[in-house]
Amino acid sequence: MKLNFCSLSSGSSGNCYFLGNGTHGILIDAGISASAVKRFLRDMGIRMESIMGILITHNHTDHIKGLEVLTRRNGIPAFTTATIWKSILSPGTRITSDCIREITAGTKFSLAGFDIEAFPVCHDAPETVGYRLSSEGRNITIATDLGHICETSAPYIRSANLLVLESNYDDEMLAGGPYPYFLKSRIKSDHGHLGNHQASAFLADIINDDLRFICLAHMSVNNNTPEKVLQTLHRTFEERGISPDGKLKITVLDRHRPSEIICLE
Ligand SMILES: [Zn+2]
Ligand SMILES: [Zn+2]
Repeated sequence: MKLNFCSLSSGSSGNCYFLGNGTHGILIDAGISASAVKRFLRDMGIRMESIMGILITHNHTDHIKGLEVLTRRNGIPAFTTATIWKSILSPGTRITSDCIREITAGTKFSLAGFDIEAFPVCHDAPETVGYRLSSEGRNITIATDLGHICETSAPYIRSANLLVLESNYDDEMLAGGPYPYFLKSRIKSDHGHLGNHQASAFLADIINDDLRFICLAHMSVNNNTPEKVLQTLHRTFEERGISPDGKLKITVLDRHRPSEIICLE
């Protein structure tokens, strides 16, 4: 069965990813409006009714903006850990209880034909997770919003055939940019975001023949450009004597527009 992946939006103004198997689909994060999700899916020929669930990584707005409407209006169940649910469900939040599904990081569950596992990552929100979704021996790992790649998250990232990895900022652009000192420190910290150099160095460490697609994600609007992301990665590969074969496809995900559909055979 072919798997189709598409980023609907990726970056500090909204994150939402789609993974489907031709019959059913799953969304990872809902950081754009429900109407935008609906429109993007429709443009790809995907019906909202085929979405079996939404996996939530953490409570920051750029990951949950459309969650209330998607659950309330479309009745799509949403999955995340008890701690993350607690941080999302304030008294004013209107998510119906039948859409709330609690999961445990490190424990597999099944949804829409995928085996799914959440894994903890380091970020400045009340617990943050990444997800690995598996089907018929293929692994798709989503790891955005992580200050560094720790021992816990590394195996999930390393085992991906299709990897969505944060490449948030360029070091020089961040250092010379307009953000106040505290914000620069927050972004660079071990619980902030992953920069181009960090992402590239880790990719150079883990690159292997089973890694077929790299999607560099969650790019900052002020502190990065797609060119910087790719330059850093290619330079790192060159310095390390790595020349990936023609089968590896590297994409920088757009902040506002859906990516191409990536098909994993
Ligand atoms: Zn984010
Ligand atoms: Zn975040």
